Amino acid sequence: MEISLPYCNSLTKYSRLETREVLVGKIGIGGNNPIRVQSMTVTNTMDTDATVEEAIRMVKAGCELVRITAPSIKEAHNLQNIKDELYIRGYDVPLIADIHYTPNAAEIAAQIVEKVRINPGNYTDRKQFKVIEYTDSAYQEEIERIRNRFVPLIRICKRNKTVIRIGVNHGSLSDRIMSRFGDTPLGMVESGMEFVKLCEKEKFYDIVLSMKSSNPVVMVHANRLLAAKMIETSRIYPIHLGVTEAGEGEDGRVKSAIGIGSLLEDGIGDTIRVSLTEKPENEIPVAKAIVSKYIERENHTPINILDIPVVNPFEFKRRKSTTLNNIGGEYPPRIIIDFSRISDISQKDLTSMGYKYSDDKWHISDQASDFIFVGSQSINFELPSGVAIIQNAEVWQNSKNSYPLFTLNEYFETKSKKSKILNFVSIDSSEINKDIFIKIKTDDKIVLILETENKHGIAEQRRFIFELIKNNISVPIIIKRNYSRLDTKQLLIDSSIDIGALLIDGLIDGIWLESNQSPELLNKTSFGILQATRSRITKTEYISCPSCGRTQFDLPEVTAQIRKETEHLKGVKIGIMGCIVNGPGEMADADYGYVGTGNGTIALYKGQTIVQKNIATNDAVKALINLIKEHGDWVER
Ligand code: SF4
Repeated sequence: MEISLPYCNSLTKYSRLETREVLVGKIGIGGNNPIRVQSMTVTNTMDTDATVEEAIRMVKAGCELVRITAPSIKEAHNLQNIKDELYIRGYDVPLIADIHYTPNAAEIAAQIVEKVRINPGNYTDRKQFKVIEYTDSAYQEEIERIRNRFVPLIRICKRNKTVIRIGVNHGSLSDRIMSRFGDTPLGMVESGMEFVKLCEKEKFYDIVLSMKSSNPVVMVHANRLLAAKMIETSRIYPIHLGVTEAGEGEDGRVKSAIGIGSLLEDGIGDTIRVSLTEKPENEIPVAKAIVSKYIERENHTPINILDIPVVNPFEFKRRKSTTLNNIGGEYPPRIIIDFSRISDISQKDLTSMGYKYSDDKWHISDQASDFIFVGSQSINFELPSGVAIIQNAEVWQNSKNSYPLFTLNEYFETKSKKSKILNFVSIDSSEINKDIFIKIKTDDKIVLILETENKHGIAEQRRFIFELIKNNISVPIIIKRNYSRLDTKQLLIDSSIDIGALLIDGLIDGIWLESNQSPELLNKTSFGILQATRSRITKTEYISCPSCGRTQFDLPEVTAQIRKETEHLKGVKIGIMGCIVNGPGEMADADYGYVGTGNGTIALYKGQTIVQKNIATNDAVKALINLIKEHGDWVER
């Protein structure tokens, strides 16, 4: 894709991409409507009472649209009972039927609920994981086959004013799309567009589109590409955002915030769902915390205009920066932890950033940060290897593993002592100034600490970095953001978005989160953000589905069990999926898979291959551990 293809209104002035408004019952999506928050039930759809109760809990938490799975005709029919019961209890929340593989269930559901979600990867196709070479005419024949199966649904939706979400998942692209485009963001967009074209041929425009992936980088690129393609054709449908199989707890929140927030920053996205392997009502406060960042964002301090991105927004490529000591170049992004608020820093304090002193030696964990900022204090004990000190320039002495921090003025205008190895220089990203840039370019001992006060801070920092790239300046960059006014929950969301969005574009070399929260929390959050963007892998990755009416076991409980046994397996990706219908596709990225197959049984996967079937649930975690051992990925704690 061309870099110059616009994918949003502006890279520097916040505004939402204006999409066509569609009405889902009483709720408008797109146009000038607020960003809508939605979620999905996890109950059995045939259990009307449980589904109604859960939907009510979701609505009470602030959920504006409720999605319910309809795996077959009988569940599709039961949507009527659920809808009626909700109405009797005073809830007219719009319902969405979630369909995979079963056009006949979709056609029934479309006459009952306000919106139907279909997956183009499996609406008419059953995945065979075959690489087939399609001639143009064979490809066209396939499209014709889809048309014959899809048009009846379009006509029903047109008659009933039912909206269709064309929901593409990275992990379940059809063999046809995979053969021609691979499992790429372009393949995802083409998969959705095939179905859009069929709708448009029928003059049906009540469409919402989504491009989801468990990898936030892929998800962001696919949605940018989707927006760019729609801008090109001037038919811009509302976009639903979500990161699939994000998992639970902090990891799930960080992943979702990065994927969804990176797009909302550029005005892309009309409705969001945060998928967590938790109760659906837990997803709503997270979604609201994300959306809250964009309220009155339009009033931000102006940023110098930049129309064309300097890096390709549809592909990941890390910015080339100079290597200085262990920062920049090929080194993973570094983490600075702020200890300046702690008085009399002791060896014990370093435990919070991954270094534990016992038995006369340092023990270093996988999540050990790289630098401590001590302000104007000094450290009176021997530091563990791997960690260095940053100290205010005015008090800095040229001691081992210690580097000074300057303001821009201090560094260039005063005669303060400088390090011959590495100097940190803090600069506000609004300071784009030719003279300063010339000075930075001719000094190869600087790492910039880039700060911002702008409400639209990512855009301002990105603008600054683009200017560096345009001027061939390869100085390493550490992003510093201040979260002193935020509670722990909002800090997690805001920092994930602010830092994650820049990591997704490969623009930065380190993180510094400033806050009055504990260094331990800041250390954990920083590593979580780097893991979610796959910039620095320090722990096991869990790709677990949020569960739904198809789920074959207690997902949160099993996920917790698997996590307990395997959380020391740094870099191993484990998929935990509720059903065999969608699970294997959705965890396409995982090294090992634990998938529900039937009542009380589990199948285990190595990559995309099923290796053991019909394992009783009670034995399945042990069997998974044995499988990991067999393949040499197990290490003892
Ligand atoms: S993988 Fe999980 S969320 Fe997806 S359909 Fe199966 S059980 Fe439902």
